[in-house]
Amino acid sequence: MKKQIAVVGGGYSGLTLAYFLEKAGHQVTVFEAEERAGGHCCSVFHKREFCELGSVLGTSETFMKFLRQLGVKAEYKYFHRNFLGPDGQKQAQIGPDEIAGFQEQLKRLPEYLAPYQAALSAPGWAHIPDALTQSFESWCNANKLHTLMRVYAPHLVAFGFGKSSEIPAIYALKYLDIMTLSSMIESRKLISFSNGANEIIAKLSERLDDLRLNTPVTGMIPLDNNRLTIKTPVGEEDFDAAVITVPLDPSVIHAPDHARLMSCYRRKAYNVLSYVAQENYRTTSYFTHNFDKDGHLLLLYSSKPDQPGPLLTAYAAGDLPIKVLKAQIDADLKQAGFKAERLFAYKQWQTFPHVTGVEIKNGFYDQVNALQGQQGIYFSGSLTCFPTLDKLTQYLSDFATRYFGPDQP
Ligand SMILES: Cc1cc2nc3c(=O)[nH]c(=O)nc-3n(C[C@H](O)[C@H](O)[C@H](O)COP(=O)(O)OP(=O)(O)OC[C@H]3O[C@@H](n4cnc5c(N)ncnc54)[C@H](O)[C@@H]3O)c2cc1C
Repeated sequence: MKKQIAVVGGGYSGLTLAYFLEKAGHQVTVFEAEERAGGHCCSVFHKREFCELGSVLGTSETFMKFLRQLGVKAEYKYFHRNFLGPDGQKQAQIGPDEIAGFQEQLKRLPEYLAPYQAALSAPGWAHIPDALTQSFESWCNANKLHTLMRVYAPHLVAFGFGKSSEIPAIYALKYLDIMTLSSMIESRKLISFSNGANEIIAKLSERLDDLRLNTPVTGMIPLDNNRLTIKTPVGEEDFDAAVITVPLDPSVIHAPDHARLMSCYRRKAYNVLSYVAQENYRTTSYFTHNFDKDGHLLLLYSSKPDQPGPLLTAYAAGDLPIKVLKAQIDADLKQAGFKAERLFAYKQWQTFPHVTGVEIKNGFYDQVNALQGQQGIYFSGSLTCFPTLDKLTQYLSDFATRYFGPDQP
């Protein structure tokens, strides 16, 4: 049955979900709070070059197929990655004496993951065993996977998902499934967006019937007939269903159980600083000695993975004023020997909506799954899936079919 559906949030999740829902024959309205759609997909341009303040790459063939379907220009490229010490000296990620141990741990990994296949292969979060609600570090220690944990760490810390000692094991393992981990550590070619991540947003936006910009949802009020009213500063409208793709202030949702679950979400403060450099660099460098420090350089990369360029983008974690942050990153760059001329653009994000291991153990995601569709309200996107473009694409396609497919009333 054709439904009128409101999607809350016009980031990659909201737009992609709206695309799948419209393809399934529904009438969809996307509400986006900002003047631009895209959220964490955000390319900025400097002369004839661009860099990403958000999403940079993808890994899976499924995602590549989706990009082709949209007509987004994307290519597989090598990202030349290395590890640098404070003074810019090259370092090995793991020592030569640890390589044999690492290979042995990698070989053991599938055996350790086997009992958790239901949780690891479910779309989104379901069937999570208690063992995977402890921190990733504890889980690795319990399974004697110490070197493997160090190999995972850069992809967790330097992309804003947190330290191994903090992040529940289920998040780390779902994100870095064996295929993704292998493509990262073996330096396989990764998917690069030729015209920037903005092109994905533009191609999705141009296909959608009803995208409303600068229109934050300020109220979601269930009605008696399982429909609901959406309030924005512009007015009020009724829908058959509303799908939330972004953490909202719980007071926006006038349904106590949904609002209570929403209040559990936390996010990570994550900063991206893009510099015009004095020289052309070709680098994608991790600074592991800073992995425990907020406000310091975690990852530095030149705007194009395969060509030297004058734009250098730095990542740092932590909720710090930009002035303090810039001073620290400037000093880190200088010490490592990179000559940055000036800061060109920056963005301080709130990223990775997640809950604590204790909340997961107490059945947080079971409660979310049980509430889906009650009073017309659904949770989706980064609220119920690990937030990378690859994982979201597959999950959102599945979500649209599961809850709004032809078999649904
Ligand atoms: C620096 C950085 C680099 C990244 N790099 C990669 C990468 O290389 N590869 C990868 O796969 N992933 C990457 N990610 C993760 C990926 O970009 C995000 O997970 C994904 O874009 C999240 O999309 P989303 O729509 O779920 O959330 P968001 O992008 O957060 O979008 C949510 C949207 O909702 C809007 N909104 C908020 N409140 C309201 C409201 N009340 N009403 C209406 N709208 C509202 C926001 O304005 C926003 O546009 C990166 C993330 C960051 C921050």
